[in-house]
Formats: sequence, structure tokens, C-alpha cells
Amino acid sequence: MNNSDINRQPRWEGDYHPWSRRHYLVATVGIAALSGCTGGSDDDDSEPEPSDGEDDDSSDDGDEEEELPDGVSQEQFDQGPVPEMYATATSLGNEQRDPDDLFAKADVGFTEYDDAGDASGFQPGHCCANCADFIPDKNGDAFGACTEVEGYIDGADWCSVYESLPEPEVPAGLTEGELATAEVPRAYRTAGSIGGEVRDPNDLFTQEQVSVAESVEAIAEGAAAPGQSCGNCAEFIPDKNGDTWGACAKVEGYLAAEDWCTVWEHVTEEL
Ligand code: SF4
Ligand code: SF4
Repeated sequence: MNNSDINRQPRWEGDYHPWSRRHYLVATVGIAALSGCTGGSDDDDSEPEPSDGEDDDSSDDGDEEEELPDGVSQEQFDQGPVPEMYATATSLGNEQRDPDDLFAKADVGFTEYDDAGDASGFQPGHCCANCADFIPDKNGDAFGACTEVEGYIDGADWCSVYESLPEPEVPAGLTEGELATAEVPRAYRTAGSIGGEVRDPNDLFTQEQVSVAESVEAIAEGAAAPGQSCGNCAEFIPDKNGDTWGACAKVEGYLAAEDWCTVWEHVTEEL
């Protein structure tokens, strides 16, 4: 498939038009892999493979004991300090961390997603990876940090001060139905992702092929594992112009940190 084919092909045929990320998952999971257009690569006929957390070792599915990073004690893991690069870093929701103004994990019901169960305030699909306060992994140890809670934080964790990411507004000049296939602003077209992949606008999956959905909804429905969102995916290109939309080195159209798709790859694997 070449770029002109990608941009001209109608994609939202069927019952789910206009496009809505909130409902798209229901329509397409299980269908994407059957698409006749492979996208993403002109070199082979491989189909997008779901990242369900079972085939990788990124320890983000909550099934295994959390392994501490090398040289980090349990006390430091729980209470910090976190590595310097996180100390005053900015979160997915663009909040800056203040190391002197953080909750203790014990005070906010901090737990792994799979153990959140009946915790007060917990809602299915909510986890650190789609929380506005999460700072994704920056040094390849699989853990990030948080602007509200001290210590090391995994995307598949959760706490009671979870804060939803704001829904991005539709940019001027576009409709919601156009976001999935629209050409992204120039600053993103050949930009590098947080995992170091350079975007090739002629070699991208369609959002339909990879079942783009909101992370919260995908996790709640079991299509995604806890801890998966665009915000901590190696292919994500974060917002560059303040409109809270980003882009992706593998998938066309507008994507936000709160989104997810079946070719999600933990950023840790590329750091
Ligand atoms: S859920 Fe809690 S610990 Fe996790 S990122 Fe959000 S505020 Fe931090
Ligand atoms: S950034 Fe989002 S859309 Fe792109 S590959 Fe990762 S999960 Fe999929």
C-alpha cells in the first residue's frame, strides 16, 4: 500500500460512522487482523498482532510479583527518592512533579490494578498508564513515577487519587470523524517517537486495522492489559503544539496519550 492509497481509502464503512473512539473498540477488536490491507510495512504480509500482555516479558499484566529495579531497596521503591530524571518531570497530563509535595503510597490505597478490586473509587480500566499524573519510564527499568505519589510507579498500578486525562478537543478545521485519517500537523509527520522510532507517513497502519480505542475502555473490556496506553507506548509521539493530541510512528491520524491499539509496545523495550 502506498501513501496515496492510505489517504484515499474510505475506512469508516458500516455501522460505526461517524467515528468515535469510545465505541470503536466494540466494532473492531477481532476484525482488525482480518483486514486485507496490511499497512505498517510494505515488506511483508504480516498482520498487526495484539499486545495482550501474555507474549512479552514487560511484567505489565499484574500476574507476577513486581521485581525491583537493580540496586533499589524496597524502601526506596515505595518511598523514593526516584531517579533524578523523574524528580521534577512532567506527567502525561502535563503536571510537574514536586518531590516535596507527594502522598505516601499507603495514604492513597496504592496497589496493583489486579488487586484494586473493591477499593473505594476504583473503576475498571483506570490504571496509572492512563492517569494524568503518570510519568512513564524514562530509563528502561520498566517503572515510571507520579506527580502525586512518591516512589516507583508501574503503569499497571492504581491509587485513589487517580485523575482521568482530559478528552482532547477536536482541532479547528477538522471534525471528530476525520481525526482517525487526517494528516497530522507537519511537526509530527517524520518526528521521532518516545521509543526512538521515526515516523514514515507512507508506512502506517490505519486506526481501523489496529483497533484504536481509549485505554480505559480497552482495559475494562479485557482487550488491553492493565498498564497499556499510547502514553507509555514506544511508538507514541507526544503533543508538540499544546492541543493535547499527539501522533504515532506506526498508526495514522491523531492519537492521544489516553488511547491504545493492538500493536502497543511498552516504551521500556526501546529504552
Ligand atoms: S493512579 Fe495514583 S499512583 Fe497512579 S499515576 Fe495516578 S495518581 Fe499516580
Ligand atoms: S502509540 Fe498508541 S496507536 Fe501508536 S502503536 Fe502505540 S498504542 Fe498503538
